[in-house]
Amino acid sequence: MQTIQVNLERIQDEIRDYELKFGRPPQSVQLLAVSKTKPNQAILDALGAGHRQFGENYVQEGVEKIQYFQEHHSQFEIEWHFIGPIQSNKTRPIAENFDWVHSIERTKIAKRLSQQRGTDLPPLQVLIQVNTSAEESKSGVDEQQVLELAQAITELPNLTLRGLMSIPAAVADHQQQLEAFKQLSAMFEQLQCLYPQVDTLSMGMSGDMPAAIEAGSTMVRIGTAIFGSRN
Ligand SMILES: *Cc1c(COP(=O)(O)O)cnc(C)c1O
Repeated sequence: MQTIQVNLERIQDEIRDYELKFGRPPQSVQLLAVSKTKPNQAILDALGAGHRQFGENYVQEGVEKIQYFQEHHSQFEIEWHFIGPIQSNKTRPIAENFDWVHSIERTKIAKRLSQQRGTDLPPLQVLIQVNTSAEESKSGVDEQQVLELAQAITELPNLTLRGLMSIPAAVADHQQQLEAFKQLSAMFEQLQCLYPQVDTLSMGMSGDMPAAIEAGSTMVRIGTAIFGSRN
């Protein structure tokens, strides 16, 4: 068997084990395969293993891959997630090509994505990127801004608010990881009370997946553990 297929099966098994260990319902955590910087062949291997959800960080690279698979492998119904930073002059290709966006931090970006989403397409499924207090990087909104941005998004016709995403600071300690994820989880529950369509908490990467699942993640974004390290 190919490495990517073996890795995917191992990660899926780990996810099922952690669901059980942490008392999460079976199948409550989905796997997003983060294929950024990896060639089309790597995605094809994952497709061959039955995987259909992929995450990309860079607009041009992501759009090229989406168009390649539409043209040459249209038999696969792939769900494409944009998970990288968004510049306001790059919203159109995102709106026109991706199915999901995890990295919304500003109302202005949300408005542009909604305006530019083709009306022949289903609404773009979006998450608000949150900066928990444990995080050093400045990307993502703080707790107060989440509710404001959520309200603005729910008023836009071509976006559907599905939840929150976060990239906490990379620390090795499980308890420290857990603290950041639990903050996010509390915000997520608050948001769910206000908006019943909110069902997605995107947190956890190759280095902190168990803590994310323990804290309530519904979607882990895994790159390295599936596709190997990036240059
Ligand atoms: C690169 C990236 C990932 C995957 O990280 P790995 O450590 O390779 O699993 C997940 N989420 C985001 C936003 C990323 O940029």
